Amino acid sequence: MSIEGGGATGSGATGSGAAAGTTGGGNGGAGPGGTGPGGTGGATGGNGGAGGTVGGAGGSIGGTGGAPSDGIAPADTVPGASLAQDGNNAVALGAGENAIYRVDVGAGEHVGFLLDFSPTGADVVMYVDRYDGSMPDELGLTDAGPGVRALAVFEPSGAPRTHWVRVEAQEALSGDLVVTRTPFADAATCSGDCDRLMQMPLPIDPAIDGYDWNPSTVMRYWFGRRDLIMAVRHAGQVMSQQGFVPFFPEDFSQWNGETPGIDVGSPRHASHQRGKDVDISLYGEDGQAFWRSFCSIKTDSQPSSVDGDGTGRECIDGTVSGYDGQTNARFFAPIFATGRVTHSFLDEELIEQTIPGAAAAATAGQIDGSLVPLYSDGKHLQHWPNHDNHIHVRMSEAPYGTNGSLIVSDDDFLPP
Ligand SMILES: [Zn+2]
Repeated sequence: MSIEGGGATGSGATGSGAAAGTTGGGNGGAGPGGTGPGGTGGATGGNGGAGGTVGGAGGSIGGTGGAPSDGIAPADTVPGASLAQDGNNAVALGAGENAIYRVDVGAGEHVGFLLDFSPTGADVVMYVDRYDGSMPDELGLTDAGPGVRALAVFEPSGAPRTHWVRVEAQEALSGDLVVTRTPFADAATCSGDCDRLMQMPLPIDPAIDGYDWNPSTVMRYWFGRRDLIMAVRHAGQVMSQQGFVPFFPEDFSQWNGETPGIDVGSPRHASHQRGKDVDISLYGEDGQAFWRSFCSIKTDSQPSSVDGDGTGRECIDGTVSGYDGQTNARFFAPIFATGRVTHSFLDEELIEQTIPGAAAAATAGQIDGSLVPLYSDGKHLQHWPNHDNHIHVRMSEAPYGTNGSLIVSDDDFLPP
């Protein structure tokens, strides 16, 4: 909606994960070798001599991997770090104090770090660092919101890797750091546990993962269903492999599954509950994918009962400029191909350019031709105000397997 991407409630004026992790062996997951022998060898071999041998083969097959044994940091790499337990870790800090926790993340493991604290207004920053083979490399941070900080990481393949969570308190606080490990694997479609709410992991290398974040990204609003997280990650990998820059996902749902902004008494959307929705930036003809409007704006103030849609910003007819219909059609294709998208919302003026873009992409062999009808079915791309600068993707909440293994649901329409 209107405040997305504007940084109104944004976090983090300092730091960026953009350059993080470029030396990581785990990046092999994005390449063809990532799901092959390398991934298995690393996962089972661990840090020992035999594991190093097996995992080393994986690294070479994966193409970008380092030696898997480099993934586990020596105990003295970060002095003062304590080993975090799975589950709750009590945190008590005085003003100006820091705490550092070490967590070794297994290959194929998603690990969420959720800090809750009081007083809820305390000024606290939580960082996650990933071991780069010699030292910690900052992946990301979160510094905004009342009483909660949340970040997540994922090691795609190869070998376990050491991470550290740093909590910096400007004011005295007490609370809990909850460490949650969840098996996770990238794939084009989800095959189990698909409705689990989990946080979008920080990209290790945005140029490979295909998505990125910036100071307007609100990390505690980055929680989606597993199948939506998988779809967005897969789209990122497809786009990066085709040479495109990372896109920027903004709001999914809050850490507790509620609409983003409820925690501060100002919901940013009508929907976005239970991790079924996400808003993502679009590609321009300049090849960039940062958040921006692609048209001149008028304000639709008609109530929905009159014109059948909502109120807000809409593109003035004929004013679309710089929007790349074909590239965005390629971007949407892996998400539509999941068979689990019930609606996506996009301004009708942008839809008008995406439909021929999809046909051109299919002709060029860039997307599967069977997907082309979806772009003009009025559901996979549906007009709604305030979508001149992003696409809103909604996944079905229907159980898997109710209509065959994959469905395109006719869920009751709910506004975005
Ligand atoms: Zn939305």
